[in-house]
Amino acid sequence: MVKIFINPGHAPNGKPDPGASNPNTGLRECDVALAVGNMVAEYLQNVGYEVQVLQSNSLSEICDAANSWPADLFISIHCNAFNTAAKGTETCVFSSFGARLEYASPCSKKLGEYIQSQIVKSLGTVDRGLKPRTPGVNGLYVLTNTDMPAVLSELAFIDNDEDAALLTNHQDDFAAAIARGVTDWLSF
Ligand SMILES: [Zn+2]
Repeated sequence: MVKIFINPGHAPNGKPDPGASNPNTGLRECDVALAVGNMVAEYLQNVGYEVQVLQSNSLSEICDAANSWPADLFISIHCNAFNTAAKGTETCVFSSFGARLEYASPCSKKLGEYIQSQIVKSLGTVDRGLKPRTPGVNGLYVLTNTDMPAVLSELAFIDNDEDAALLTNHQDDFAAAIARGVTDWLSF
């Protein structure tokens, strides 16, 4: 049975770390990530996969849980934030060096491509593409320290009002898109 680990970003109920937020509505990244993560889990359980969801302030606890299970694939769910004007979806994947996409692990890259394209297609967000993340350059702990194909999805920009409206009103569409990306990858 395929085992899928889902990590909604930041700390449960924002304590101590809520992640980014929208300056106008107060919408918090930790809450969006958890809601979407739980919905992804439900979709994937419904089609027969085993799913674990863990949101924790301890990144090592998250990676240990995924590695010791062991999960077959790992998805971390986040929202981006920059200057309130930037918007769109991007998916981060581990890359062994140089922060170049051609050095990304092929399995993670393929998984990232499927999830990225499903989100962009169904939500109509700006396609910012896959972002390579390399330890020592711009690495992400959960991508560097998990043993299985892993991606970190930045659903949209929570500090941009247009994207934040999607993150408020279309959480189920984000979740369904991620779940379809996973099933695309598993049937690939
Ligand atoms: Zn985040």
